[in-house]
Amino acid sequence: MTNRILARLAYGSRYDRVPWEQRVYLRPGERLIREAQWRRLIARAPIMSRAAYERLRPLGEIEEFLDCMMCGESRQQPLFEPTGGKGWRYHVVRCPSCGFLYRNPNVRPERLGDLYSTGYSTFLTGKYAANRQRRYDLTMKALAPVFDEGKERRLLDFGSGVGLFLELAERRGFDAYGVDLSPESVAQANERLSRARTYFGAPEDVPEIAAGGFDVITLWSVLAHLPRPLEDFQLFRSLLAPGGVLLVLTVNARSLLLKAYGSKWSGFTKNHLMFYSSQTVRTLLARAGFAGVAFTHHYGDTVEAGTTKLSPALAARLRRSVEASDGGNMMRVLAFADEEAIGRWGGGPLTIHRLHD
Ligand SMILES: [Zn+2]
Repeated sequence: MTNRILARLAYGSRYDRVPWEQRVYLRPGERLIREAQWRRLIARAPIMSRAAYERLRPLGEIEEFLDCMMCGESRQQPLFEPTGGKGWRYHVVRCPSCGFLYRNPNVRPERLGDLYSTGYSTFLTGKYAANRQRRYDLTMKALAPVFDEGKERRLLDFGSGVGLFLELAERRGFDAYGVDLSPESVAQANERLSRARTYFGAPEDVPEIAAGGFDVITLWSVLAHLPRPLEDFQLFRSLLAPGGVLLVLTVNARSLLLKAYGSKWSGFTKNHLMFYSSQTVRTLLARAGFAGVAFTHHYGDTVEAGTTKLSPALAARLRRSVEASDGGNMMRVLAFADEEAIGRWGGGPLTIHRLHD
C-alpha cells in the first residue's frame, strides 16, 4: 500500500494505463531503485550451512535437499517462498558462490511425474496455444539464420508437449522429432502433426532419437523444469551433429520483475525447479561441453510483435531498460556445439561468447 502511495506521488497517473509488467521498466529511476533493493537483499539475507538449512525446512515425501548444481557449493542463502493456488508452496535459495537460484528442497527426479498430473495437456492447448506459437515465431525471427531453412535438417524438440512448436518446425521443412514425459500430450501431438513425430519417454529410450545427429535441439520453457540439468545437457551435446545448435527459452533469474516482486514473481510457477541467468546458464553449457553461447534479449511479446500500445518513445525506453539490466523476464539462449557451429552461425548480429571450462 505504502509503495502504491509513493508511486502515485512520484509518477502521478502517467503510467496507469501501462500494463504492470511493463511499468517497472519504464518509470524513471525505477530500474536503479529495484537493482539497489536487490543488492541490499543479497547483502542482508543470512547464509547458512546445509545442515542448518535442513533443520529449518520440513522435507516433503517427493523432495530432496540439494547442493548448488552449477558449482557444488553446499551453503544456502534462503531468499523466497513462492505460493500459489491450491496451496502449493516452495522455498528458493541462492548459491552464495555463483548466484544460482534454485528450489530447495527440490523434487526427486523419479517423482517428477507427480507434478504433471492429468490435465496438463489441456492447459497446453486453448488460448495458451496461440500465444505460444506467436512466441516461437518471434524467437525464430530473432535468431533468423538458424531457423530460416529447415530442409533436410534434423530437429529435436525436448519436452515437446502437444506439438505446438513441432507443427511450426515441420512447416519450415525440418525433419522434426519430439519427446515428452506426458503420454496424453504425446498422443495429442501425433494427431496434430503430419510428418513430425513425438515419442513418450527419455531420448535414450527412443531409437530414432538416440541415433543423434541433430542440427537443432530446442527447449521451450523446459530448462526450469529439469531436476538433473547437467546430465541432460551432456546428453543434448552428444545428440548434436557437428555444427549443431541448442536453443533455450527460459525465465530469466535476472529479471527486473523478480527484483521488483520477489516471491510473487511470475517465473516462480508451481512446477519450476531452477532459475537461470545468462551467467549461470554459461556454467551449465561449459560443463556440458558446448563451445559457445549467444543471447538475445526478450522485450516481451507485444513489443517484439509490434502490437504494443506503448508509444514508440516508451517502447524504446523499455528496450533500453531491458538491455541495461540484462533484465528481460525471459531469456533466449543459443548454444553452439563446437567451432564449426560458431563458424556457421556466427557473424550477423549475434555476439558469441566462447566457453572455456
Ligand atoms: Zn553455485
